[in-house]
Amino acid sequence: MIRLAVHHQPQLLLQQENCPQITDSSCRWREKESVSLLKKCKAMEELKQVHGHMLRLGLFNDSFCISNLVATCALSTWGSMDYASLVFSTIDDPSTFDFNNMIRGYAKDHDFENAVEIFVEMLERGNSPDNFTYPFVFKACAGLGLMRLGREIHGQVFKLGFHDDLFVQNSQINMYGKCGEIGNSCAVFEGMEQKTVASWSALVAAHANLGKWWECLEIFGDMMGEGSFRAEESILVSVISACTHLSALDLGRSVHGYLMRNFSGLNVIVETSLIDMYIKCGCIEKGLALFDKMSAKNRWSYCVMISGLAMHGKGHEALLLFSEMLEQGIEPDDVVYLGLLSACRHAGLVEEGLELFKTMRLEYRIQPTIQHYGCILDLLGRAAMFDEAFNLIEKMPMEPNDVVWRTLLSASRVHCNLEVGERVAKKLVQLGSNNAGDYVMMSNMYAGAQRWNDAAMARSMVADRRLDQAAGLSLVEVKRKMYKFVSQDKARCNWEDIYEMLHQMEWQLKFEGYVPDTSEVVQNVHAEEKQQRLRYHSQKLALAFALLHTPEDTTIRIVRNVRMCRDTHTYTKFISVIFNRKIIVRDRNRFHHFKDGTCSCGDYW
Ligand code: ZN
Repeated sequence: MIRLAVHHQPQLLLQQENCPQITDSSCRWREKESVSLLKKCKAMEELKQVHGHMLRLGLFNDSFCISNLVATCALSTWGSMDYASLVFSTIDDPSTFDFNNMIRGYAKDHDFENAVEIFVEMLERGNSPDNFTYPFVFKACAGLGLMRLGREIHGQVFKLGFHDDLFVQNSQINMYGKCGEIGNSCAVFEGMEQKTVASWSALVAAHANLGKWWECLEIFGDMMGEGSFRAEESILVSVISACTHLSALDLGRSVHGYLMRNFSGLNVIVETSLIDMYIKCGCIEKGLALFDKMSAKNRWSYCVMISGLAMHGKGHEALLLFSEMLEQGIEPDDVVYLGLLSACRHAGLVEEGLELFKTMRLEYRIQPTIQHYGCILDLLGRAAMFDEAFNLIEKMPMEPNDVVWRTLLSASRVHCNLEVGERVAKKLVQLGSNNAGDYVMMSNMYAGAQRWNDAAMARSMVADRRLDQAAGLSLVEVKRKMYKFVSQDKARCNWEDIYEMLHQMEWQLKFEGYVPDTSEVVQNVHAEEKQQRLRYHSQKLALAFALLHTPEDTTIRIVRNVRMCRDTHTYTKFISVIFNRKIIVRDRNRFHHFKDGTCSCGDYW
């Protein structure tokens, strides 16, 4: 008897009712023939024909054929879950195999709700899940962020004795990682008797998912250190991401080499990740060269390249690439426009930026986000067009946040416009923003206008409110290893050598005319203490370390977690001349390429 289910379509029922009931032994060859026809299918139309054929042969009650039909329909790349579900609903007593195929099919299509629903139905009907069921159920839980359900199912896995199954364990590492429970991911990993590349890969992905890039590289190092694993593409994509965020260029290059040697032809995701890595590690030329060689580019590839050119201050090149993208028939989205506007912002292309902002809204009907507005306001501020900036703020559909106001505060400082500065500072106070840097900026502006009392008052606010600057951190790569520095760092075992090097650098800097600029040091401390803090600044320690440990002609690459202060900027310019080195620093906003005593940002950042 055919079970009536919700999804039943009359058409299917009719076909089945019109068919003769064949239950004799000659049925076996029909089964075989139908299944071999199924295996040859390459599209839904063909599968439907085979299904019709099966019905005509009277095989609609044949669990072997119907199960195969569901499996093919659910798991093929060209399959259809709607049709699979329709056929599934005709099965009187679905087996665990049938349920597994349905769950897997839904999970494959990212239809996680239906995957969980069918799993619940499976339990309600008394079918026992097995080790093929759980990996996809965990995938669905991860996709829906259902941490509690995931944990409950984890308990069930224990009860049923599947906790030692490799596939189940790997999927648990993934699930906990995606739900942000990294401790549980590690616990499952540690408890595994036998680990595969997929286990390592899942652990790296779990850390990458939470932005724990440092740990990603450590785990990858441990895996390669064990010597018996061959890295696969998915783990390498996570590692490339980690290299991108940490600016670990040498390691990134090795991964690229490994990919070239071990994989024939890279897909667009891997290629674009590599381009992103080179750009964010400061090698814009290498990124461009790879981009030009790509056989197929999509919107993401263009987006990465446009934003990359923007970060490196190459505004005109970014705009040219955008025209090329349009010529290729690729429609821009809000992220592409964000890249374009920040390209205009970093290169000071005011007219172009305003024009793009207009076409984005009017031609492409893209709603600007607060980041888009931030770019435009920075652009207007840079050009000292403060009236226009305030007008735009009035028209913004959302409330401007502290980041937006701070953009204008920096611009007012650059143009020494105290009136605008005070107006913006008031807004920042109203917003309850307690950023030490804002007060320092105001204090410096008052000092510039010789309003000493106001300058002192702004400074004392920092002390009264116990405000502190974000802890500065500098990362530098030496011989394929990343080294982390904080201010006044003495954690390295050879710290004395680094400090000795700093003294030598300072001596030469003085000779060249460098004067420390303590105006941006926030802490309320003595002038001498301020100088100490500046002297052992994290970026300077990283520079000294790199100068000590890299050959003379190599470029030094540093990543900062905060915006570079003026003193460090000047200092680095001097170092680039004295030691004849190219120094590339990525701060929170952009890249600074230091060479022969100048910086690519033109001192506006
Ligand atoms: Zn610069």
